Amino acid sequence: RTADLTGLPTGIPEALRDEGIEELYPPQAEAVEAGLTDGESLVAAVPTASGKTLIAELAMLSSVARGGKALYIVPLRALASEKKAEFERWEEYGIDVGVSTGNYESDGEWLSSRDIIVATSEKVDSLVRNNAAWMDQLTCVVADEVHLVDDRHRGPTLEVTLAKLRRLNPNLQVVALSATVGNAGVVADWLDAELVKSDWRPIDLKMGVHYGNAVSFADGSQREVPVGRGERQTPALVADALEGDGDGDQGSSLVFVNSRRNAESAARRMADVTERYITGDERGDLAELAAEIRDVSDTETSEDLAAAVAKGAAFHHAGLAAEHRTLVEDAFRDRLIKCICATPTLAAGVNTPSRRVVVRDWQRYDGDYGGMKPLDVLEVHQMMGRAGRPGLDPYGEAVLLAKDADARDELFERYIWADAEDVRSKLAAEPALRTHLLATVASGFAHTREGLLEFLDQTLYATQTDDPERLGQVTDRVLDYLEVNGFVEFEGETIRATPVGHTVSRLYLDPMSAAEIIDGLEWAADHRTEKLRALAGETPEKPKRARSESDDEPGGFQRASEMVAAESGDAGDGTGADDGDDSDDADEFEADRTYPTPLGLYHLVCRTPDMYQLYLKSGDRETYTELCYEREPEFLGRVPSEYEDVAFEDWLSALKTAKLLEDWVGEVDEDRITERYGVGPGDIRGKVETAEWLLGAAERLASELDLDSVYAVREAKKRVEYGVREELLDLAGVRGVGRKRARRLFEAGVESRADLRETEKSRILAALRGRRKTAENILEAAGRKDPSMDEVDEDDAPEDAVP
Ligand code: ADP
Repeated sequence: RTADLTGLPTGIPEALRDEGIEELYPPQAEAVEAGLTDGESLVAAVPTASGKTLIAELAMLSSVARGGKALYIVPLRALASEKKAEFERWEEYGIDVGVSTGNYESDGEWLSSRDIIVATSEKVDSLVRNNAAWMDQLTCVVADEVHLVDDRHRGPTLEVTLAKLRRLNPNLQVVALSATVGNAGVVADWLDAELVKSDWRPIDLKMGVHYGNAVSFADGSQREVPVGRGERQTPALVADALEGDGDGDQGSSLVFVNSRRNAESAARRMADVTERYITGDERGDLAELAAEIRDVSDTETSEDLAAAVAKGAAFHHAGLAAEHRTLVEDAFRDRLIKCICATPTLAAGVNTPSRRVVVRDWQRYDGDYGGMKPLDVLEVHQMMGRAGRPGLDPYGEAVLLAKDADARDELFERYIWADAEDVRSKLAAEPALRTHLLATVASGFAHTREGLLEFLDQTLYATQTDDPERLGQVTDRVLDYLEVNGFVEFEGETIRATPVGHTVSRLYLDPMSAAEIIDGLEWAADHRTEKLRALAGETPEKPKRARSESDDEPGGFQRASEMVAAESGDAGDGTGADDGDDSDDADEFEADRTYPTPLGLYHLVCRTPDMYQLYLKSGDRETYTELCYEREPEFLGRVPSEYEDVAFEDWLSALKTAKLLEDWVGEVDEDRITERYGVGPGDIRGKVETAEWLLGAAERLASELDLDSVYAVREAKKRVEYGVREELLDLAGVRGVGRKRARRLFEAGVESRADLRETEKSRILAALRGRRKTAENILEAAGRKDPSMDEVDEDDAPEDAVP
């Protein structure tokens, strides 16, 4: 019974009881018996929705009650705020909660006053790199969805981070929450933790396969779900759930599909089904919700989502804006939305239980594999685990779809009777080690090759490997790479991070990205005049000025460092700083061009491994090859030849991504961008945020290496941040303005922050389409003494104020 729990802060057992949690679920009780509330480390491998969060909370709260501090590591940024909101209900019992997101390069000093901190593994890793003081005070760490150490891209970070945290405090309590994986025991061995493994669920889950006119469940039962001629299985299953069992209870459905496009088209079809089941009241509420969705952004995705929602269905995928996702999830929990068609991201961690789950697609396109690949058992089980709303449904139903009896039998074998895969460390992959070895050296966890290997010995990889030599070999290769690129240096046995190496680690860059950026910027410094000339339309063969030959002489550009000194001292224009002997040449070119150009810089950061590039679709190869030749002088570095197949293809993918960014800073409509590049609005945000971070890192590296491109990089970064052309930078920096309003203001003659303080208010109000509250907030943010719009009439504005 929760009332009998000891070791928790005062009032918590009673609060749990008031929430309706009177008795612990069996796996929870087992965890407490294993010492959860006494600081014992624990791996809990239990199904989705079986109360893992409470296990984490009991560990964290009891740790705090003993005077400690707890950290909760989430796998997705979107989950951080959700978990924080959940834990904040303990604030009335004196528990302070903080969430750490965003800017990598900070030590989050303010977090030292919090009792419970929520962060992603990348963020925790970067806090360790930046020596956050409070790291030493941690007594309890929870790793949510720890089976993701198996993830090729993100797993190694979680793995290394846990190893580092345990090294900082050997008595650290580690609570790892996992789906039911095959080898939870190995994970527990690695973490020196007790193991609680269970298949128990608070609500029964019936798994089955639909084929013909019925679902056959694993327990031997059947449910008739006839599918009419020419009709599809999924809508029939969604309609059947909404019919309920004659008890008047409409059952909701979650439909999992394998791509965003499929999620959107399925939602459109399901909307025609759900529409038949919504009541008059619901229709009104849904119309309101649809309006809210349209308010978030005026993109096609937004419009499509609103159209489906108005009829009671929705889609959900990683391309959605965060606001859209929250609106959809909340309305589904409130049972207003009857069906969500989702990609598997929704199965990972978001608490959206549903009466019925339909796993429509169990294969998905895998680029590395080069074709359709069956999903992991673990993934399918996690999707299926979302079926059944405790307290609402008698049981949950999870259904796979088959076309014939053979396929039905195969699906039973493959997913329903099958156990989830084992978790396997991906740490020995070179990109992962590149990043983590540099960080391990830079933050002082190891100073020698032996020390590094000893540290790596504390990882899951070491627990699992049967080839102990391998890690040593990869380590040597990676150390070589880091030395050649100037990120570490050897002094006898001792390995030290160089100043640039320290910066790279703190900036949270993949060393390979840093090397690419540094090469590109140094190349730009070496080719500056030649490229400026090409950009001005002059060909090297027909130089306008006689002295140009001298530009090819070695050493002709050693003034780069002098220039940067002048530039950083005077960030005003960044152009007139050239005082070398051919200054009049450069002056003339630089008068109308900054170099490197934004596109050159965007391309540079887009070709680093830290940016997920856009894929080339059919026809793109031609389009971007042409663009590649057109804009050739802008690229920083040698363009690979068309015969270097892979390298050229990568170059073009980076160019496509860079072009998206160029459109964004050229103020092209979001809608137009999503169409042109076949992406969702959430993807634009993702690319923009990554580019902002990488350009920020490039700016730091340029200034540290005394390169003359600092100013150009800074401006390119600012433009990405606001999504505007140069002339709007000042305006768009004012809180509440944004790219669209900045343009409207500018067109109305309000061109700067200073103009916002001085121009007649009616003009500003008209430019802001009469939105008084918005106008007041903007004027206040711009520092206007009297921002009130009370007496102002937008109709008083002169005619030219309305663009
Ligand atoms: P998981 O993290 O394992 O997917 P959750 O922790 O989100 O699952 O739990 C699912 C739901 O079960 C939550 O709404 C939670 O409040 C509820 N719950 C957890 N433990 C108990 C309990 N002992 N008694 C009643 N409800 C519980």
